[in-house]
Amino acid sequence: MSGSAPRIVMKFGGTSVGDLDRIRAVAERVKKQKDAGCDVLVVVSAMAGTTNQLVGFCQSLSPLYDAREYDAVVATGEQVTSGLLAIALQKLGVPSRSFAGWQVPILTDSQHGKASLDSIDGARLLGCMAEGMVPVVAGFQGVGPDGRVTTLGRGGSDTSAVALAAAIKADRCDIYTDVDGIYTTDPRIVPKARKLDKITYEEMLELASVGAKVLQTRSVGLAMRERVRVQVLSSFEDGPAVTEGHLPGSMVVDEDEIVEKKLVTGIAYSRDEAKLSVRRIPDRPGIAAAIFGPLSEANVNVDMIVQSTGADGTTNMTFTTSKTDLPRAISILESVRGAVQYEELQTDPDIVKVSVVGSGMRSHAGVASTMFRTLSERSINIQAISTSEIKVSVLVAAEYAELAVRALHTAYGLDDV
Ligand code: ADP
Ligand code: ASP
Ligand code: MG
Repeated sequence: MSGSAPRIVMKFGGTSVGDLDRIRAVAERVKKQKDAGCDVLVVVSAMAGTTNQLVGFCQSLSPLYDAREYDAVVATGEQVTSGLLAIALQKLGVPSRSFAGWQVPILTDSQHGKASLDSIDGARLLGCMAEGMVPVVAGFQGVGPDGRVTTLGRGGSDTSAVALAAAIKADRCDIYTDVDGIYTTDPRIVPKARKLDKITYEEMLELASVGAKVLQTRSVGLAMRERVRVQVLSSFEDGPAVTEGHLPGSMVVDEDEIVEKKLVTGIAYSRDEAKLSVRRIPDRPGIAAAIFGPLSEANVNVDMIVQSTGADGTTNMTFTTSKTDLPRAISILESVRGAVQYEELQTDPDIVKVSVVGSGMRSHAGVASTMFRTLSERSINIQAISTSEIKVSVLVAAEYAELAVRALHTAYGLDDV
């Protein structure tokens, strides 16, 4: 807890700052929160669609683009909105100043395109707030050890917001977005999804890591470690200033704050994955190392892995990576073809990973079998399976994404009736 005035970080996502009218509306909302007696720090994303467009530019010029230059390009989106919001706030009589990542500074490692935060010095921002100003920090970006701009991976403004909240010891980090909270699944594909008033850090972390993009995975892990109180709420609904007595969104909390415990808390899907099959490899020790070693050295994250061995002494290795990493994964696998001696490399980007998450799975069996039965009743073929303590994921053809999520939502009794 800080001194007298509550210290609040307000983060606004892409659609919330999607055009000038939205930016004006955000400025009004920030003013309202400030007028209610809070010290406010704002973090902004790029205008909706901007980052996708910038990423597309890089990919069109070269699928194997230089990650440093990618960062130089994509970080610009947030710089635009931070400046525009500062202008909109000034117009309303609220003193404000924009900050790029390097001006804070927000220090990261050198993994361009998906950099991790090292440290944030909050002194300059706190000084600015002490003078009655509202700092508007460009999310998603930082500065690496060599002084070059870095970005934190897609959805990274959430992580910027939580990290800044930790750095300035904020009382709360409010993540404003285009839905009014965290739901049992993506409310845009399941109209019967239910809003959760509270969800545990652990379950939110797992849901985010399997595709519920309402919060970036890293932001949840960081909030859990740094004990940052995070709320997800809508920037589109008009309401009074947010106070502890009036929290309209969904709070991410510790397990002991959850009263009603369910077997399955939520369902997520990810269209972000691509499937690769390295086929007909002579079966011998060391194949997995020969395939996954070079991929890991090239920073390609591998998710699900299935090895299937035929009767003729050959084996197939099937696995998933993110769609973004696919061109790099292909080029690496082609370069190790001589060493691995595989016959064929197949790739399939038209897949989706569907996952059910719930801490109740620790103590109850049967969640996975309900999932498999539900999908089989819909004739949806499962291409790969993976499990963790509180999650079961399956890989299915992309065309079944919505059907699978809706059927599972009903099967686990999550529908809002
Ligand atoms: P922002 O631009 O504000 O960061 P995002 O698009 O990154 O917004 O995240 C918000 C979106 O997350 C929602 O529009 C919704 O479609 C999606 N979403 C996926 N899973 C969930 C969930 N379980 N609860 C709420 N929203 C979800
Ligand atoms: N603009 C970035 C993205 O679209 C970061 C963010 O919105 O959180 O991924
Ligand atoms: Mg987001």
